[in-house]
Amino acid sequence: MTRYALTSDPSVSVEVVSASLACCTLELQAALNSGALIQVSEGGTGPSVIVIAGTVTDALVPSVLELIDSYPGTKVMSFGACATSGGPYWDSPPVSKGIDQFVEVAAYVAGCPPRPDAFIQAIQELSLNRAS
Ligand code: SF4
Repeated sequence: MTRYALTSDPSVSVEVVSASLACCTLELQAALNSGALIQVSEGGTGPSVIVIAGTVTDALVPSVLELIDSYPGTKVMSFGACATSGGPYWDSPPVSKGIDQFVEVAAYVAGCPPRPDAFIQAIQELSLNRAS
């Protein structure tokens, strides 16, 4: 896990682990390196998030759930149309129709692919929800 803080407001931070499954992985990396976030080595009280980035096939579901279970208390973010609904592959039999069929999702990031600023907004909302 790596902790990131908002460049514009370092009091907002989030710890991120990525479940990197398809092209959304590259988009997530672009968001993390867009300049809107800075890596912080210690401190920070924001939430921890597992980002499901990419196409989830039925065969991958057990491994994804195992990864989630290995970080107890960590929130799940569905990043992109594939993770949320199967995206452009929604009618392909081996593709799952949304990770929220298997685990509670705390934040959805729309798009195919999502824009970096949509990821930043989701982080802000998760941090705000945690504070309230
Ligand atoms: S949502 Fe689009 S960009 Fe993301 S993994 Fe699916 S096809 Fe690729």
